[in-house]
Amino acid sequence: MASEFPSPFRGGKDPLAAQLEKFVEKLDLLRPEKNGPAYLGKSGALSYAYPDVKNVTVPQEMGDLDAVLDDVVKLFEGAPNWGHPLTMCNVIPQSNTAAIIASMLSQVFSANILEGEYAWNVHRAELETAGMLGNMFDWNPVNTGAIYTYGGGGCWTYGLKYGLTRVLTDSRNKGIRTDAKVICSQQAHYVQQNATDWLGLGMDNIVHVRTDVATNQMDLGHLEELLRDFAAQGVPVATVVCTMGTTDASAFDPIGKVREVMDRHPNPEGFGKAVLYADAVVGWSWIYFKDYDFDTNPLQFSDRILPVLKANGQAMRELSYADAVGIDFHKVGWAPYVSSCFLYQNATEFESIHRRGADAYLQARTPYNPMYYTLEVSRTASGSLAGWATLKYFGKEGMQAVLGGILESKYYLYDVLSAHPDMVCVNPDDSGLITLFRVYPKDVDAKVQYGRELNDPAMRSDLIKHNRLTEAVGNKLFEWFRAGKQIDGKHTPYMSFSTGFRDACYNRDGTDAEAVVYALKSFPMNVFITPETMKWALRCVEEARDEVLNA
Ligand SMILES: *Cc1c(COP(=O)(O)O)cnc(C)c1O
Repeated sequence: MASEFPSPFRGGKDPLAAQLEKFVEKLDLLRPEKNGPAYLGKSGALSYAYPDVKNVTVPQEMGDLDAVLDDVVKLFEGAPNWGHPLTMCNVIPQSNTAAIIASMLSQVFSANILEGEYAWNVHRAELETAGMLGNMFDWNPVNTGAIYTYGGGGCWTYGLKYGLTRVLTDSRNKGIRTDAKVICSQQAHYVQQNATDWLGLGMDNIVHVRTDVATNQMDLGHLEELLRDFAAQGVPVATVVCTMGTTDASAFDPIGKVREVMDRHPNPEGFGKAVLYADAVVGWSWIYFKDYDFDTNPLQFSDRILPVLKANGQAMRELSYADAVGIDFHKVGWAPYVSSCFLYQNATEFESIHRRGADAYLQARTPYNPMYYTLEVSRTASGSLAGWATLKYFGKEGMQAVLGGILESKYYLYDVLSAHPDMVCVNPDDSGLITLFRVYPKDVDAKVQYGRELNDPAMRSDLIKHNRLTEAVGNKLFEWFRAGKQIDGKHTPYMSFSTGFRDACYNRDGTDAEAVVYALKSFPMNVFITPETMKWALRCVEEARDEVLNA
């Protein structure tokens, strides 16, 4: 079997590097010709039947390396091609070259970042991530902590756990016996449910702060009311979550002001201080514009987007007020999965209050041994290497160029869309990369019609009718993308839609499940998207609408 493993020594025949090159090339052959469809390989169809696909056994005999790897490559037939100019479906980036390679390299010698002995110098990636980002957040970099973990969901869970440990000081031993609250906005990500459920706090202990209709930001008056009432009732708050960039609307909660409100209404006596967690997994990278020189504008962004970049950078400056921040490099950081990082401002505190005793079979051989306080035991280095390589490779200017460049495309789409009478952008105030919009029948003035549907309860049935149209157009576009359909010899875009990114104005409490706004979604996440692609996407939306209405 020795010939089936990479050799521990130099020289001789070692298939690893050569095979890697060969199979990356084979994978690359799945890319389409120029102007081909936005999926890989020849067919966009699903190749298996569920659940029959599971009716399979381990082969009796040893396989052949090339044959097995050819089968791996085949699994990518039909997979989305995230770098394709027609791909704009969600917050899924094409990964940058440095991060892909760094993440792959982590597998060759299997660094385990649970502790120092098995990670050795590879731990620099996690430690220097803490330092680089701590500096960016205006924290003390040396006392900043970082834990690469299993997604933005993992970060949220860590943020909640931090609060539970700090506020319910005996909960690590006795269990959670007090209904502590976790407070987040109406727009917070649904992972709030995973975190409260799996940590045993219970989903009923989630408390929602109302959000402003126009800005989607947390309403500070309502937050203050909640904190005052809980304090008066003797009910502790474990964690307050500010979403710094909501998934659809890219809204930033006013975290600096939230900190002030929290300071005015501390937890009742006998409980620790509530943790302020910033869920910045989507929005974090706008912080790169915190210190951009807007006067000389060295990267020559257009006047159209300069004020937006400035406002986004200013909003993220307030991350300095958080106790902990979650960021996803695999979202608006152009790195592969999973490369999420949970950062905390006070490493001395976090690491001591979560500290567990020593394990008999692991010894501390270096000063950094996160296994004593992490949720996970073994942790792959792939996320930490991907994140760290991205920070070092892009630097500030590289990240600014990618983000700003894609934002130019978004505003181009917005401007073209505004000139289409049958379409209306429904998130015109959002400063992120997403455009949400609705398409109406040809003869309808979309802007007027939508305004009435949004505000007038008498127009509820029209709202619902056009929600159905939006959904049908969205599904038609997906069907076309998967079928490799062409219009005028060109492929159609891979987009998506939201079945309710906000409630109608007369449904502010959300009690009417149907009085919500559906919208088509363009979420450009790669640098190959051009103004032409954006124009073409709108043309395809109109074609899809016509086909749906004529069916
Ligand atoms: C995507 C997202 C999450 C979940 O992150 P994963 O990396 O998918 O686990 C949490 N919060 C927000 C705001 C998100 O957009």
